[in-house]
Amino acid sequence: MDCIFCKIVAGEIPSTKVYEDDTVLAFKDLNPTAPVHILVIPKTHIASAADIDESNSAVIAHIFEVAAVIAKEQGLDDGFRIVNNCGELGGQTVKHLHFHLLGGRKFDWPAG
Ligand code: AMP
Ligand code: ZN
Repeated sequence: MDCIFCKIVAGEIPSTKVYEDDTVLAFKDLNPTAPVHILVIPKTHIASAADIDESNSAVIAHIFEVAAVIAKEQGLDDGFRIVNNCGELGGQTVKHLHFHLLGGRKFDWPAG
């Protein structure tokens, strides 16, 4: 499958890993939009948030556990943002489910 995040999981494309276990990988975003910008992904290929169902949602819960651990490690004690872009209108460019963990600056709301 021609998926860059599956290739990162397989080690075929380099990444700066910040966390890894059996089911979840986290690595630094190549084009950071905040002082801390980490992508947290399931190792298994799930195309988008629209493809989450009861057969694969356990890893999503685990992703949020991992994100909380990483946020603490990164010193984001005053807050952070977790973003998922889904589909064309949601601005998703990589079709492997990922959550952006963003921190180190103030974020506006509503997002543009
Ligand atoms: P999205 O627009 O939500 O699909 O986000 C995709 C993100 O993946 C963007 O923030 C990109 O900067 C990031 N990205 C794309 N390719 C790589 C890569 N090889 N390593 C790390 N981050 C990447
Ligand atoms: Zn993939």
